[in-house]
Amino acid sequence: MVRRNSNAPTHPVIGTIDIGTTSARAILFNDKGEELAKHQIEYSTSASEAPDESSNTDQFRRRSSLMRHNQPIFTAEGVAISINDDIEIENNKASVGPTLRFPQPGWVECMPVHILANAVQCLIACLITLRKINSNPNLKTKYRVKCIGIANMRETTIVWSRKTGKPLSNGIVWTDTRTSEIVQHLEKLIDDDKKKELREKTGLPLSTYFSAAKLRWLLDNDDIIREEYEKGDGNLMFGTIDTWLIYHMTKEKSFLTDISNASRTYFMDIETGEYDDELLEFWGVDPSKIRLPKIVSSSEFYGSFASPNFQNLGFHNKITNEAYEILKTITGVPICGCLGDQSASLVGQLAFKSGSAKCTYGTGAFLLYNTGTKKLISSHGALTTIGYWFKHLQGEDNKPHFALEGSIAVAGSIIQWLRDNLKLIENAKDIGPLASQVPNSGGVVFIPAFSGLYAPYWNGGARGTVFGMTQYTSSSHIARAALEGVCFQVRAILRAMAGDAGASEDFLETALSSQNESKPLSSLAVDGGMSKADEVLQIQADILGPCVTVKRAPISECTALGAAIAAGLGFEDEEDRVWSSLDDVITKLGSSVGDDNLFKAKLPDEDRRKFWKRWEKAIDRAKDWLEDE
Ligand code: ADP
Repeated sequence: MVRRNSNAPTHPVIGTIDIGTTSARAILFNDKGEELAKHQIEYSTSASEAPDESSNTDQFRRRSSLMRHNQPIFTAEGVAISINDDIEIENNKASVGPTLRFPQPGWVECMPVHILANAVQCLIACLITLRKINSNPNLKTKYRVKCIGIANMRETTIVWSRKTGKPLSNGIVWTDTRTSEIVQHLEKLIDDDKKKELREKTGLPLSTYFSAAKLRWLLDNDDIIREEYEKGDGNLMFGTIDTWLIYHMTKEKSFLTDISNASRTYFMDIETGEYDDELLEFWGVDPSKIRLPKIVSSSEFYGSFASPNFQNLGFHNKITNEAYEILKTITGVPICGCLGDQSASLVGQLAFKSGSAKCTYGTGAFLLYNTGTKKLISSHGALTTIGYWFKHLQGEDNKPHFALEGSIAVAGSIIQWLRDNLKLIENAKDIGPLASQVPNSGGVVFIPAFSGLYAPYWNGGARGTVFGMTQYTSSSHIARAALEGVCFQVRAILRAMAGDAGASEDFLETALSSQNESKPLSSLAVDGGMSKADEVLQIQADILGPCVTVKRAPISECTALGAAIAAGLGFEDEEDRVWSSLDDVITKLGSSVGDDNLFKAKLPDEDRRKFWKRWEKAIDRAKDWLEDE
């Protein structure tokens, strides 16, 4: 670990990399959780565009760039600090091709080297901003990157060669469904008892979603990978995005995965936090023929930062000398925090208490309910996952923390559909105003089950359905019903999770009728693109009722902030940490949520109950639409 100028006082900065499904970003945070610099690359998601192999030019210049703002963000020592908040749009023709590829219907692949390059490029852009900030002569104390944390999309599977460091195929992204036959085949092989046993061991249902099925597919279908596997000479390496990035961004070539990512592979026993022989055997994976990364905590020293060698990885876009120079300013900085993206936003929302919950409304919505050090296996359709593990903290805080997770496949994407397919709105931000032109949905119920119903219903045969339309129904009613459709599912998940946590009935109603009833949840922390709309959150609050307050995070980048927190706590010696404990994190980052971010139910109880009943009736009718086909 390198410590430069240890005597000169500096402001600590935490560098974060957040690899989403359709974008990559880096953010530099200070110890108050404020953003000093941010840079994002949004990927092209069009399936048809072929990579232009002939172009071998500087992607830094040729990618289109959109400046969002450059306004003073906060002050340090009385000096106004502004950040360059850039978004680049990946341009297929200008670079070595898109990061995401869609070779067949249902297939979603990513280019691992591009992901690495995107992460590094975002970091470089942030470091350039930091250099500008530090060059202000009025700033007495300079900012210095003290540690680096990573948050990443989970489950996405990469296999690479130890000898060359190069991927042996494209990565298979979590949304890819090519493994459905493998999963169906395995399902038929096992009885209900075995299914239950697997569920208790992994916390997960058998599904195309998790990494194990994707690795099995590669071993069965990719000739190069199969050959290497059969040779069994230790060249083959398996990892998720976290492992891939850390391997290539550390001087030590550290080969590890944090426990929250490992809990999504289907290879790990969620209780022991170790790979399980029986699970490996179930998937036919022999760990003596393919190396599996060591499972470690979310917050400890993984390795020291070193710039990857892109030439060796066959990535021929020019990276300027200036870029390599600026990377030297963080060479040796410890990478010491890592979390899967949904776990990261749980942490970024400061939802550390058992019984606290957060919901991220992005393209889909993910609700995580912190169950503390207690592993709960849901009997209501939620997954069990690792929330976080802060190994160096004291007492209970240093144990792995579990969470129940409920996912909704279609959330923000329903707004995109209303915009792009029905042309009801021009921009996503217009949805709130359109929906609030009417006080309710006028009896319309919209079930946005475009890819079946996920938690807690798990009905693959359901499809998008609209009930209750009349001549009177307007576009505002449809828009409102679509938003309600997402929010009703959140209510259903919360109710189911509270049931798993011991509440006997619908706590949202019981707590209403009894003052003494202990409430499993009093507030729901929310973030993600769709939560920007006040109208959405008011609808959510109205649907949940007066027992639960909806609280929007004052910091919008909760996922990256979670990675920053993990890294800032990742030092063994308390003196070295950015924050000494979780209490310290809460004190410094827990800025009070202003009234404009708090949403409480305004709808009369009677109406809420009536609408919920109507929703449940609609759900019953929408299920199994595809049953006989
Ligand atoms: P992801 O991380 O899954 O890419 P984001 O958190 O960036 O998702 O959220 C993107 C979603 O948020 C989009 O589907 C979009 O419809 C929705 N969205 C973005 N801005 C708004 C807004 N102002 N009001 C409502 N929805 C929005």
